[in-house]
Amino acid sequence: MAKQYDAIVIGAGIIGACVGFELAKQGKKVLNVDKLSGSGFGSTSGSCAIIRLHYSTPDGVAMAREGYYYWLDWVRYLGVVDPTGLVKYINTGCLVIKTEKNHYLKNVMASLDELNVCYEELDPEGIKKLMTIADTRQFGPPVTQKDPRFGEPTADAVAGAIYVPESGLISDPKQSVHNVQKAGENVGGEYLFKAKVVEILKKEGRCAGIKLEDGTEIHAPVVVNVAGPHSYQINEMAGVTQGMKIKTRPLKQEVCHVPSPEGFDYNNLGTIISDGDVGCYSRPEIGNHVLIGSEDPECDTLDYVDDPDTYDTNFTEQWTTQVMREAQRLKGLPIPGPGKAQGIVDLYDASDDWIPIYDKSDLPGFYMAVGTSGNQYKNAPVVGVLMAELIEGCEGGQDHDKDPIKFKMHYTKRECDIGFFSRLREINPNSSFSVIG
Ligand SMILES: Cc1cc2nc3c(=O)[nH]c(=O)nc-3n(C[C@H](O)[C@H](O)[C@H](O)COP(=O)(O)OP(=O)(O)OC[C@H]3O[C@@H](n4cnc5c(N)ncnc54)[C@H](O)[C@@H]3O)c2cc1C
Repeated sequence: MAKQYDAIVIGAGIIGACVGFELAKQGKKVLNVDKLSGSGFGSTSGSCAIIRLHYSTPDGVAMAREGYYYWLDWVRYLGVVDPTGLVKYINTGCLVIKTEKNHYLKNVMASLDELNVCYEELDPEGIKKLMTIADTRQFGPPVTQKDPRFGEPTADAVAGAIYVPESGLISDPKQSVHNVQKAGENVGGEYLFKAKVVEILKKEGRCAGIKLEDGTEIHAPVVVNVAGPHSYQINEMAGVTQGMKIKTRPLKQEVCHVPSPEGFDYNNLGTIISDGDVGCYSRPEIGNHVLIGSEDPECDTLDYVDDPDTYDTNFTEQWTTQVMREAQRLKGLPIPGPGKAQGIVDLYDASDDWIPIYDKSDLPGFYMAVGTSGNQYKNAPVVGVLMAELIEGCEGGQDHDKDPIKFKMHYTKRECDIGFFSRLREINPNSSFSVIG
């Protein structure tokens, strides 16, 4: 006989684990299924795990602020100590460079003010005091390596920056999922690995469970798609894609790890830098390295992939471009030659407007937490609560599409309107259309 659950969560990444944990805390019999052999082995394992508070809307800051408190309060959140080790939040602070494109951070500062997040405005001299190796000349707007202007300053100095001291990173994103798995199991949640979902079962006009590749059926009236870069495949299986205005697609990302400029203790003195002027973000990385990701500047061609299981996982010219861009800001940053590239290649589950979809679907009982667009690791514990509230409200009869479910966030006490993340929204024109969110 097929096993029966109250809810099945497809995916055991950081978001899926947090959703499963919250549903189990509500007393539901929950199963997280994943095709890989352990929790956090999907795109979460490639995450840069940056916890930053700067977003350009008060709601964006509120969500990140709320998430930040969960990471600070990690053991209390989990309610149990994972014997294989707990992850740590490491505070580094975050420097955000003002550019014309980010409106010199006017909206960001107003949003931080609204949530009482402290920050300091810095002029170029202040940036140099904070990071002695910073070159404060302006190089932007970013261009490709082919452009003769590449690497050439466009003004004597950037317009300034803000420094947000409450920002940092999580020591090990994959292990953080294991921590949440243990917490979920502690309250009755179950996990099934090496189990690939190939079909969403339906009965009498609603979702009824899943079918695995080996033919096993598992029944549940609620199924949640948290499949990361594979989310579009699960939505297609459920037949809900036509009923969505916003879609999701896997997008390849290259993250570079390079040694710190010689003589600089990047591990202890480096900060996170969000630098739209050179088109990169960066943070300290183990081994006195600098980790460099792309802020997806307009000049770059985004590398959407057709199949998240067979895409090219090699570094490309993009890797060198990112390191050379970061070298414009960090004096003395080494640029490793051919064959010496180190770092990570992974996929974002990018939505059309780079804002996630946390929603129900047109198939009753089928929900989704998808389109996390490279910036929702930090929010995962909040998303767990959000999805549990959404599912409880919808299953209780509320028409979320017409009367969006809201809930009060635990730490910030701010109301979160889940309707903001609707699959039926028009593309949000205020989005940065990049990983900045
Ligand atoms: C390179 C990179 C850097 C990032 N940096 C940051 C950052 O600094 N800060 C930040 O906040 N966010 C960041 N993010 C984003 C963040 O990491 C993601 O939003 C988050 O990890 C997504 O978690 P998830 O649980 O939704 O997906 P995943 O971790 O991808 O989990 C989805 C799971 O679903 C499983 N699955 C898929 N299809 C099936 C199927 N058919 N059957 C069964 N299982 C299936 C997969 O095996 C996978 O384990 C980054 C992301 C990337 C890729």
